[in-house]
Amino acid sequence: MGKYPVYQSPQLDEVEQRMRRLEAQHGYLADDPRALVTILTEDERTVKALGLTHQAIAHRLRSLTEAAKQALGGPVVVENLWRVVVQDFRGRLPCPWGHPGLYPKTHVVVERLDTGETLQWTDLSIHLIETHGFYQGLGSPYRLDPLKTASFCAVSPE
Ligand SMILES: [Zn+2]
Repeated sequence: MGKYPVYQSPQLDEVEQRMRRLEAQHGYLADDPRALVTILTEDERTVKALGLTHQAIAHRLRSLTEAAKQALGGPVVVENLWRVVVQDFRGRLPCPWGHPGLYPKTHVVVERLDTGETLQWTDLSIHLIETHGFYQGLGSPYRLDPLKTASFCAVSPE
């Protein structure tokens, strides 16, 4: 927790409740007991400390995703550093913020060839970062810790 109490707006309360209801389907928050506003605030602080923006991180995730989509499902090696595999699942996911439209359940798995580390995300994960600064809760299989993600994807300040 930061130095100052953080208040969550009723609108954000609604978003958090929607996520907790959809938990079984997607796992946005997993067992993270923190209020949504706290998760957002703490991740934003990390991103700022790195000198980055949510958009820069989302942009990098999207470009890795697009590279693999062009390979039609097979694994593709990007810049000799990442092996990317995209799996298309049937179905679409809504944004828990209530944006109109649905996001394809594209599942992206990326391995760093030098360290063997892996990260995974979906098209919705990219939207959640880009538009809402939401990297999902601790313990979520789709948690993209900003520090880890920036280093994994080699995102650097512009
Ligand atoms: Zn949204």
